[in-house]
Amino acid sequence: MNLIYELKNAAYIYPGGRPALQDINIDIFAGERLMLLGPNGCGKSTLQKLLAGLVFASSGRVTAFGRPITAKAMLDKRFAAAFRQKVGFVFQNSDVQLFCPSVLEEIMFGPLTMGMDSSKAKRRADELLEYAGITFLADCSPHHLSGGEKKKVAIAAILAVNPEVLIFDEPTNGLDPRSQCWIVETLNELSRQGKTIILATHQLEAASRLADRVLVLGEDHRFIADDLPEKILAKRELLYKANLIAEI
Ligand code: ADP
Ligand code: MG
Repeated sequence: MNLIYELKNAAYIYPGGRPALQDINIDIFAGERLMLLGPNGCGKSTLQKLLAGLVFASSGRVTAFGRPITAKAMLDKRFAAAFRQKVGFVFQNSDVQLFCPSVLEEIMFGPLTMGMDSSKAKRRADELLEYAGITFLADCSPHHLSGGEKKKVAIAAILAVNPEVLIFDEPTNGLDPRSQCWIVETLNELSRQGKTIILATHQLEAASRLADRVLVLGEDHRFIADDLPEKILAKRELLYKANLIAEI
């Protein structure tokens, strides 16, 4: 199996803050469907941002596609552009992600930035609008949409650049059931296409439905388990200690 990420003793401390991640050691392979599971504040979003090259390890090492991911490495514009094409990050809060005046422009933005010509980018965006069932929203402002529609636009905008690795932060959280179903189906489809998927959730039920491997982060910001979903779900004491269930 192809190794995509290698984290060695990685830690992250927000400026002026307390540690958000401590002593993280993981290997992530191509095609895996991985769930980061842990209570609020344990560091899931921070770990995803490390993997997406949005923040950089305070100590230890994060390697992706065989190259160290550091602030310095990202100063190399060609490397950064290639990395950003390979790794897509869907934020928990779509409002952070969406910034274009229309849905169509939002979805075309990534391909145009990568140098795709505008007619091809438009075709790609049209396909994704149709896939997400939101063609009728093409000319709307992303900020005027419902939560589920915003999430679909954010996901379509990421899929437009066809990344190998897709990182989703609490993708179904707070959405209506039909939007949640669409996201689950999309994740299944991406997995069938061989994409590497890295999800985060604090909802235990999501783990077995959406992942082949579950990593549990504890309240001390360290990993406490790395196993198959069914194995993790059977470890009631561990889940209780991790504040993922209220009683054993
Ligand atoms: P999770 O996604 O598991 O809820 P986060 O990665 O968001 O956890 O947060 C991990 C820890 O880092 C928490 O203690 C949180 O308060 C802290 N934290 C998160 N974002 C920031 C920030 N921008 N500045 C300072 N501390 C932060
Ligand atoms: Mg989070």
